[in-house]
Amino acid sequence: MDEVIYNHGKQVANDEDDLSVPEAQRRAEGKTMEPSLCFAVPPKVALHTLGCKVNYFETEALREEFRREGFSLVEFDDYADVYLINTCTVTHQADRKARQLIRRARRLNPQALVAVCGCYPQVDPGTVAALPGVDLLAGTAERLRLPGLVKRKLQGEEIDRQVKPYDPGAPFEWLPWTPEQGRTRAFLKIQDGCDCYCSYCVIPLARGPLRSLPPQQGLASLREIIDAGYREVVLTGIHLGLYGVDLTPPTTLARFLEEAVHLPGLQRLRLSSLEPADFSAPLIAVISGSENICRHLHIPLQSGDDTILQSMGRQYDTAFFRNLLKELRANISDLAVSTDIIVGFPGEEEEHFQNSLAFVRECAFSRLHVFPFSPRRGTRAAKMGPPVPSAVKKERSRSMIALGKALSRAFQQGFYGRTVPVLFEKIVDTVEETREAPDSAPPLRVRDRQPPLLLEGLTSQYLRVRVRADADLRGQVRDVLLQPGTPEYLRGLIGS
Ligand code: SF4
Repeated sequence: MDEVIYNHGKQVANDEDDLSVPEAQRRAEGKTMEPSLCFAVPPKVALHTLGCKVNYFETEALREEFRREGFSLVEFDDYADVYLINTCTVTHQADRKARQLIRRARRLNPQALVAVCGCYPQVDPGTVAALPGVDLLAGTAERLRLPGLVKRKLQGEEIDRQVKPYDPGAPFEWLPWTPEQGRTRAFLKIQDGCDCYCSYCVIPLARGPLRSLPPQQGLASLREIIDAGYREVVLTGIHLGLYGVDLTPPTTLARFLEEAVHLPGLQRLRLSSLEPADFSAPLIAVISGSENICRHLHIPLQSGDDTILQSMGRQYDTAFFRNLLKELRANISDLAVSTDIIVGFPGEEEEHFQNSLAFVRECAFSRLHVFPFSPRRGTRAAKMGPPVPSAVKKERSRSMIALGKALSRAFQQGFYGRTVPVLFEKIVDTVEETREAPDSAPPLRVRDRQPPLLLEGLTSQYLRVRVRADADLRGQVRDVLLQPGTPEYLRGLIGS
């Protein structure tokens, strides 16, 4: 497929750069294309990520690449020479956030170079290129070239704005990333792309075809992350459940996990979203058989009504989903299942919505992510009707969110009085704690003196827990007695 280069909204040819060979491969062959440029003072770059865990992983890799290229990294709210926004385009809201960040970057330094990469420009390069204040544009491929292109642009070279459409046989783009010492949780992307084309979803257009990182490389990266001292690794992908089907020889997520859980030193492995149809018997067996795999699964339901599921092009109905949950809960103790729900899909009548509410309640999810339907250009659902009026969509969102809060609270309550391991990740600002704790929150325990540190961590079920402690326990796992807290977190007492 021919590459497309966008320059200020116009499509132009670029015959200098051969983009058909991935940068990682060129680099492995010692043929990096970007000339090495030196600056008297390292330029400052600020990066911001929108969207999913896959995007977060990619920004981390980019951060390292910028550092390697001689940039100094600063926070996004600081004055920088370069602002890079790694975007998401799953909803209109996500696009709007990207536009706000572009404006914010411009305000922070009107002379800065503002670069935009990721799903939004990949899907709609013309619109993003035409936004005032965007100097450099890239899609979801060839990210390793970005620091070099930014450098050349800073040196005054004209750089075409570029987005490359995906080939059906595009390989997995490996982003070299060295885990930093002394941190708690890392994301590792082992899969990209999706071939499902659910009727509402723009992701296959943004991320290209399904492709996987070969297992040897995935396991080697996992080993590096463990050796760097990370306590938890989140395996991510766009369609993670189909990991390996594109490889030669093909493999599966279950086989990858069977090897991963035996890596010495692995403490916690968390799986990002898995589609309902992707749970095979071996996958359920490896999750239930390993203490290291977290007892939290995110399984997108999207609607609890069979008619709507069918128009969404989902590959299951509510009966299938019900049986899946039954099997998972029968095999995996203390399992938390969270989900995504779309409300106001075209043609969703009150009866469909009531079915959805009732089914969501029956499923007893630990957490809901509710999305009002947002038509995305290029998807089948964008042309479907009849549209649900926006006031109705808002009302349905409110009802679904309220149900989600009640379900989260009920799930939390099942853990009151239990002692479970918590991995501590951060120290919480006590001002934040005062703001979040409702008046009705019961006191932790009467003590003469409150230990000075307020720490926050996660249980295996992704329950957020806050405890007071004398010592900084970040990066440590401790048994914690769980007590009522707020809808956002439980309080806890560290066992003596
Ligand atoms: S499985 Fe469906 S919802 Fe998920 S990324 Fe693919 S097309 Fe989108």
